[in-house]
Amino acid sequence: MKRFSQALITVLTALTLSVSGCSKSVEGESKKWDSNTAKVTALGAQYPGLKSALDARKASAKEVYDAASSLDGDAKIEKLAEANSALMSGYVRQLDQLDEKMKKLRESRALAATNAGDSASELGAKVAAEDAAKVIERVDAMLKKGSPDEAAAQVLVKKASDDLDAAQKAIDKVVAADKAKKDEAKAEVEAEKGEAKADEAAAAAKVAPWKCGYCDSENPHDVTSCNSCGAAKPDSAADKKAAPAK
Ligand SMILES: [Zn+2]
Repeated sequence: MKRFSQALITVLTALTLSVSGCSKSVEGESKKWDSNTAKVTALGAQYPGLKSALDARKASAKEVYDAASSLDGDAKIEKLAEANSALMSGYVRQLDQLDEKMKKLRESRALAATNAGDSASELGAKVAAEDAAKVIERVDAMLKKGSPDEAAAQVLVKKASDDLDAAQKAIDKVVAADKAKKDEAKAEVEAEKGEAKADEAAAAAKVAPWKCGYCDSENPHDVTSCNSCGAAKPDSAADKKAAPAK
């Protein structure tokens, strides 16, 4: 029994190690570091006003990265992972996502304006699109000006990100309201179509010839008893009762 539980522990330990080894590796974290540093360098070129803050971030993360070189195994992996998150955490990650947000907002602006279903929606889309344009312009200027140190950069990037989110939300709201209006109008048209069809069917039924239930001959709509056998037109219970029994 003791031997069995020892074997079990060995298996479990091996499993745990292989699972944690799967998620992170020296190679994986090193590759990540390379792509992250390239990303931060590109961000510094794109936002020159934030370059010095980004360079400072790179330098402090590099210290963590360098400390990994004297380590082995899991400790090395952990240190490399730590360097990666030190490089990308907080405002750097947010800054990296600003481009996408900006792009999405620009697209939504154009979409809202071209899709507006009626003049009220058009006006709402116009107002939201104008607001979004102002936000984009302001964020652009904010980023261009930049901030020299980490704390100020953090505040600036957060503000830029929040402003873009708010503008996006406003545009999304206009688009959603316009869509709801369009859906409602569509449902109304469908309902009217259905009514017209029912009226048509009723009118057609009024002039349709009727078939005698006793002798099977067809009779014009306006005769009330069968032309060949004299049975009453079966359009009411009373008529049926009046029909001659066979
Ligand atoms: Zn008949």
